Amino acid sequence: MSSVLVVEDETAIAELVAINLRHAGFDVRVAVDADAAQAAIDRVLPDLVLLDWMLPGQSGVALARRWRADARTRDMPLIMLTARADESDKITGLDAGADDYLTKPFSTKELLARIRAVLRRKAPQAMDTAVEVCGLRLDPATRRVTRRLGDALREVKLGPTEFRLLHFLMTHPERVHSRAQLLDRVWGDHVFIEERTVDVHVKRLREALAPAQCAALIETVRGAGYRLTQQLASAVA
Ligand code: CA
Repeated sequence: MSSVLVVEDETAIAELVAINLRHAGFDVRVAVDADAAQAAIDRVLPDLVLLDWMLPGQSGVALARRWRADARTRDMPLIMLTARADESDKITGLDAGADDYLTKPFSTKELLARIRAVLRRKAPQAMDTAVEVCGLRLDPATRRVTRRLGDALREVKLGPTEFRLLHFLMTHPERVHSRAQLLDRVWGDHVFIEERTVDVHVKRLREALAPAQCAALIETVRGAGYRLTQQLASAVA
């Protein structure tokens, strides 16, 4: 389930958006100002943020700029909501780092379409689309992981955490992810879980992938973290 943080001080709008997003299957939290939004993000990184431009205290634009300057939140999918429709305001919002921009009033249908488009582009692990790397196929809709070996289709049995971990790595291949980043993106928590927890689950994931002859997909990058390679053929005899 994808998580969305709605940052909006007008409670009627915030509630309406929250209800519609929950109805569409999103896990929704609401923050009423910049401080509450920052506190929510310090706890758990959402898959996407809907950020209102006009907030009491620090504005949405200032908040967006701050998040884009921070390594932890730099790539966080962000859609700005605003009552403004001026071209210059739109450009300011996009310059501040918003991935998209929605002018109030907007329809739920349009909001959902924009959210899905931004997630598809920036957070594919939050989508239900099947992914395939080196013949290993992961389908979030059916929660099945399979690999074709010759004529046989071998099923890979994974626990929920290993499934999320593999999904994240498969949707972000060839990039090195630190343990802290994986805790943020897979566990949703970078503060209260020890980093060695990641090592335990990577070990379990490799053990589960071994019968399907693709444990070598998950590479350890010394001193940096883990990476999913797309060049398995050379790694496995
Ligand atoms: Ca507002």
